[in-house]
Amino acid sequence: MTETLEPPTAVVADSVIAIVGGGPRCLGVLDSLCANVSELPPGHAKVVVHIFDPFPIGGGRVWRRDQPSLLWMNVPASGVTVFADETCHVAGRLRKGPTLAEWIDEHRASLLADPELAEEAATASGETFVSRGLQSEYLKWAFEHIVSTAPEHIVVVTHQDTVIDIVDVPGPAQLVRTESMEAVRADKVVLAQGHLDDELGRREEVLRDFAVAHDLLYMPPAYTADCDASQVPAGGSVIVSGLGLAFIDWMVLLGESRGGTFTADSNGRLRYHPSGKEPVLYAGSRRGVPYHPKLTSPLRAERPPLPHFFDVPTVLERYPDPRTADFATELWPLACKEILYAHYHELFHGHPELVSMEWTAFLRELTAVDHGSAELTDLVERAVPDPRDRFDMAAIQAPLSGTGLAGLDDTHRYVTDFVRAHLARIDDPRCSVDSAVALGFFSVYDIFGKLLRARRLSASSIVRDVDGWLHGLFSHVTSGPPPERLAQLAAMADAGVVVFLGGGLRVSVDAQAGVFRATSDTADQEISARCLIDARLPPADITRTVDPLLRSLKARDEVSDSISGVSSGRILVDSSGRLIGADGQAHPARWAVGPWVIGSGWAHAFPRPRQNAGFFRQNDMLARDLLQLPLTDTREPGSRRQ
Ligand SMILES: Cc1cc2nc3c(=O)[nH]c(=O)nc-3n(C[C@H](O)[C@H](O)[C@H](O)COP(=O)(O)OP(=O)(O)OC[C@H]3O[C@@H](n4cnc5c(N)ncnc54)[C@H](O)[C@@H]3O)c2cc1C
Repeated sequence: MTETLEPPTAVVADSVIAIVGGGPRCLGVLDSLCANVSELPPGHAKVVVHIFDPFPIGGGRVWRRDQPSLLWMNVPASGVTVFADETCHVAGRLRKGPTLAEWIDEHRASLLADPELAEEAATASGETFVSRGLQSEYLKWAFEHIVSTAPEHIVVVTHQDTVIDIVDVPGPAQLVRTESMEAVRADKVVLAQGHLDDELGRREEVLRDFAVAHDLLYMPPAYTADCDASQVPAGGSVIVSGLGLAFIDWMVLLGESRGGTFTADSNGRLRYHPSGKEPVLYAGSRRGVPYHPKLTSPLRAERPPLPHFFDVPTVLERYPDPRTADFATELWPLACKEILYAHYHELFHGHPELVSMEWTAFLRELTAVDHGSAELTDLVERAVPDPRDRFDMAAIQAPLSGTGLAGLDDTHRYVTDFVRAHLARIDDPRCSVDSAVALGFFSVYDIFGKLLRARRLSASSIVRDVDGWLHGLFSHVTSGPPPERLAQLAAMADAGVVVFLGGGLRVSVDAQAGVFRATSDTADQEISARCLIDARLPPADITRTVDPLLRSLKARDEVSDSISGVSSGRILVDSSGRLIGADGQAHPARWAVGPWVIGSGWAHAFPRPRQNAGFFRQNDMLARDLLQLPLTDTREPGSRRQ
């Protein structure tokens, strides 16, 4: 279905831009085009923007309305926006718009009239982690708002369709082909395809075949909202691999969504009352504990001024060619010192009663020592008397290491207490250092991103260390679930509906018994189950994606994931975001943005208001690049008129 969102006049286009994918990123790019279009030379006619997505534009696939209402966002409404503000360093005109929280306030009356959203809308505030369905309405409105306030020479044409190929045609131009046989001619194309699906990898194929052969259930990595949770039988054991956000979705779909309820006891502790329809979830992961809760105790001091120790010039000063530096032993310790700096900046300024040294003296000594050195340990011991107030990166990275856990019961109890202890930190002002640590993580992640995009890191570091290991740790610390979900998880653990297996999770198949098995570094026993859930998204891998467009481009070597011969799985782009082919050349008319693009770890989340978010800066640069356009015809001769 094709729709032109403009008064029905004949369109004479000076330039045609196609955006593949109509999710939040598309909204950002479209808004930036609107913000920059006034820079076109006088006399420029129309800029036509074609948007393609089989799902409704605005929310797209992730934020579509039809998904279980108990699936929530993992950011409070006040922390979500798709509109730039005056903190954003963008060249285009500022086109402000409401944050999610402001929009809910402004539209509460109409939301209350929506039977599915009324109850939630009645109480939703800036602190609420709203349902994905409510966020869907915000994004739908945002799209309509961007279009209705667009400058007159922007015309938006939407296509509820999947793009299956893009080819170079004389002009030069791009021909965008869709599943329903449309062919739209464009000058430039932006791939904003977000998260995509993959064919199963070798491990997943083995597990699937085993499940088929033994009449078991295997749920491979997937969007949880797309999975049929009703297939998981009540009462039985289920092994869940992964304790991240997809695990929280599964916990909700197999617990509360099946009629389980929560009440608070006289001590305020949450209790879970099973409905009897739940399975028992035996859950573990590499690290063995769930992500940190999303909220942290607020800072008591000024924000730590970051970057301080770890920015691009200081890295280059120490390692003129960081590609030859070892990530684990040389680069990561520099980053750790930065996060440590953020922690102590907050401790010294926000809690002076907890330290025994002046900040300036501490900082002078800190500047001279390396992270991990005996001198640093000595400095911290002199300055911070209580070990509970000291920064401990090892405990963040491997929280179960050195705990001496013995057996499943011990592990389960420890992880349950660990979750509750983390939750308690949110209300403990002494733990405001956690907020500073999160800011430290954001800062070092940003700097690694800059080094990566400037190709100042080795190929293996980009693939394995930054897009792989660091992204996992960053998500673990900064991208966790709402605290309420973790409180529910602890309650379900008390009720025996969730059993924590611990870290170093190992899943195997037992052909003789015809079951899946799982154990961990500390469980000391094997769990058998007839159902296995891989609770995570499919990994970014253009070599086995099922997306027809990337498959077409890959088949012709017009997209590549290879950095210096190392396969990254992710879409390779140049510093302007242009698609790089297998020949190493950037395509002059094709760009790619979003979470599957190399070095775009930050693109996994909505931009935060008033943070000069990378989302807005990147969209602004992209829009400016796109608007330097030649005059072309808009349509392939013979294609369907819109
Ligand atoms: C399950 C889930 C939950 C999340 N929760 C949060 C959260 O709570 N908070 C947060 O900040 N972030 C969250 N995220 C991160 C998420 O990546 C961003 O919120 C945001 O959705 C990214 O926007 P995007 O437009 O880049 O990608 P997407 O939202 O994935 O949108 C891409 C769009 O491209 C379309 N598309 C793909 N291929 C084609 C094609 N060939 N032809 C036509 N259309 C195509 C898809 O249908 C999709 O609609 C979540 C992600 C997932 C997967």
